[in-house]
Amino acid sequence: MKIKLDKQRFNQGLERLKLEYKILAPVTKPIKGTFSDTDLTKYEEIERIEDIEFHKKSNFSAKEVILPINQILFYFTEKEFKTSDVDEKKLLVFLRACDLNGIKRLDEIYLNNGMEKDFFYERLRKKVKFILIGCKESYRNCFCVSMKSNKADHYSMGLNLREDEVYLDIKDEDLNVFDGQKWDFEVDYVKSNNISVEIPRNINAVELSKHEMWNEYDARCIACGRCNFVCPTCTCFTMQDIFYKENEKVGERRRVWASCQVDGYTDMAGGHSFRKKQGERMRFKVMHKIHDFNKRFGYDMCVGCGRCDDACPQYISFSQCIDKVKKVVNGEEK
Ligand code: SF4
Ligand code: SF4
Repeated sequence: MKIKLDKQRFNQGLERLKLEYKILAPVTKPIKGTFSDTDLTKYEEIERIEDIEFHKKSNFSAKEVILPINQILFYFTEKEFKTSDVDEKKLLVFLRACDLNGIKRLDEIYLNNGMEKDFFYERLRKKVKFILIGCKESYRNCFCVSMKSNKADHYSMGLNLREDEVYLDIKDEDLNVFDGQKWDFEVDYVKSNNISVEIPRNINAVELSKHEMWNEYDARCIACGRCNFVCPTCTCFTMQDIFYKENEKVGERRRVWASCQVDGYTDMAGGHSFRKKQGERMRFKVMHKIHDFNKRFGYDMCVGCGRCDDACPQYISFSQCIDKVKKVVNGEEK
């Protein structure tokens, strides 16, 4: 059902939904950004539509809602363990098309990538419904159109905002709590970006891995991992066992986000380590996003949100790296 209503009546609907759902959306926190005078836009619980940031790309994606940065899996003693509890309240998340398409990639990795579904991911994922924020303008570094992630239709509700008017495309009956007037419209989507990329499909991964184009990143990349942490499709984690001071035989196991760009990511027993050079790590990351994932699932992992470019302190551009890969593969650059 498609309707329009004013912000006041939209907020009345949110009040009804809040009885059943915790509602999260991008929120701007003034002067909480990287530098002392910059803002931070990230996912937080909201009360009203006025809390939602509609005019900026969020610095972090919505993935931390179902893939927490730091998640307790279970508690243990020397004899037994107990799985951590999960809050029963359902979740409603406002997000843009690139991030909703990013969730589809997370689902592939955690639910469709082998015999077993990831128990901890699935139990959070089942609780979440998504509200698509219509996206009219392309932001700095976005190339979602090239990655075919500028549109998404797998949402429970779609939303456009025009001044004081809210337009809703309600697909999920459980969210049909808004008092509005029937109105036909299409949820906004970005039709062009300033940046476009073309991913070559004839990549010889072995040949490309030996190419000297990656050496540039040995010096430029400082292995900070920011590109991974802001990426809506990076899914790697590491494990931490925490032993309590009071009784060192008791503790908890957590999984914590990890970064393939950071030192120690490939450390193995016996002191072995792969991809010691930053350029090798860059190659691994880029190939996963535009080649390896595609081989397994039939579409690219990267959604073209451009957040890795936004966050990189060394101004390393993912889209420009794709461009270099294209030139090398097509023989336009030696
Ligand atoms: S690799 Fe960069 S552009 Fe692609 S999805 Fe991740 S953060 Fe966005
Ligand atoms: S954000 Fe830039 S410098 Fe930091 S790890 Fe990623 S590519 Fe390297």
